[in-house]
Amino acid sequence: MNTHYGIYGGQYVAETLMGALQELEREYFAALKDPAFHQELQDLLKNYVGRESPLYHAKRLSQACGGAQIYLKREDLNHTGAHKVNNTLGQALLARRMGKKRLIAETGAGMHGVATATVAALFGMECEVFMGAEDVARQAPNVERMHVLGAKVRAITEGSQTLKDAMNAALREWTATSQDTFYLIGTAAGPYPYPMLVKEFQSVIGKEARRQCLEQCGRLPDEVVACVGGGSNAIGIFAGFQEDPSVQLVGAEAGGLGVSTGMHAASINGGKVGILHGMKAYFLQDEHGQIRDTHSVSAGLDYTGVGPEHCFLADSGRARYTVIEDQEAIQAFDTLCRLEGIIPALESAHAVAQTMKDAATMKPDQIIIANLSGRGDKDMDNIRQYKEKHGQNR
Ligand SMILES: *Cc1c(COP(=O)(O)O)cnc(C)c1O
Repeated sequence: MNTHYGIYGGQYVAETLMGALQELEREYFAALKDPAFHQELQDLLKNYVGRESPLYHAKRLSQACGGAQIYLKREDLNHTGAHKVNNTLGQALLARRMGKKRLIAETGAGMHGVATATVAALFGMECEVFMGAEDVARQAPNVERMHVLGAKVRAITEGSQTLKDAMNAALREWTATSQDTFYLIGTAAGPYPYPMLVKEFQSVIGKEARRQCLEQCGRLPDEVVACVGGGSNAIGIFAGFQEDPSVQLVGAEAGGLGVSTGMHAASINGGKVGILHGMKAYFLQDEHGQIRDTHSVSAGLDYTGVGPEHCFLADSGRARYTVIEDQEAIQAFDTLCRLEGIIPALESAHAVAQTMKDAATMKPDQIIIANLSGRGDKDMDNIRQYKEKHGQNR
């Protein structure tokens, strides 16, 4: 059994957790072979999430960039407003198959917490979400959403009281309770088999996009772009095109105030190989190997690491990873709002910014697909504050 992507990935966990990971892997492969599992997942993706999501030709945005034709994969139109529900549904179905009664999850900005609380309500499961105390204070509306959905929120007061500490705490809790508890990881990271199964559940994005592009354009895109936090929406859309060598895969990391300032969340471009959260991957670290805090205008890209397959795709050159700074993401946010009437999540605005840059260097008969991972309603306060602070007009 290969638990690695090149040198990345693996299962760097306490011995006491190995049994739980092996059980998860066994049940995952059994579920994949079970037509009833696929049928139920398909049914929920269609009738609960509202899939498939459209592939939309953004003509005014394309024209403004003066190059390639830009298509948007509209994950923002999913129930709960982002791609995350594709993964939480799949894992919750697995949890139910395994007879687990309780879901736990880590969350930073709260979006994965809300997506997990959503499926816990749907399946009548108990749910407890681990969240850094700092994030609990900063993300009050999402904490409120989790509460109304019936989930408990546990504020973690260790370390910097943010996402990485919440993930440490969730892993510890799982070690103690794996008998009846399923740990629902929110991105394509963590110990094997999580990166693999999160990719599988998010690959619906790439499979749909490939088929839709062939239907609408009669050919494959030249490039596919997604933002990269932990890497789940990116690996999901990449999955549809990884075997098509003519398709450039591009991941946009959060550059914050600039990689050279140290205030960013670009783990591949500005990090080093290390081990945390059960995996070997790129992490932001200081010169002593201590994990560094992140900065990004978009809370959902604020993870100090990145999934192992992205590390491998970066090293091998199959995918290119770029950096988009706060300012560029905000500009792309404004542009998409004004030209297309679509308010993107700030995370997704990083992908849009990269797409606009690349489109301008390409020809009008070329095609770029940008993954619009989520909608921006949640970011309105954030945007207003950013603009007030930077003296930008409305
Ligand atoms: C959480 C989130 C992300 C970042 O997570 P990935 O695992 O890197 O996809 C991106 N976009 C939106 C809208 C999110 O909510």
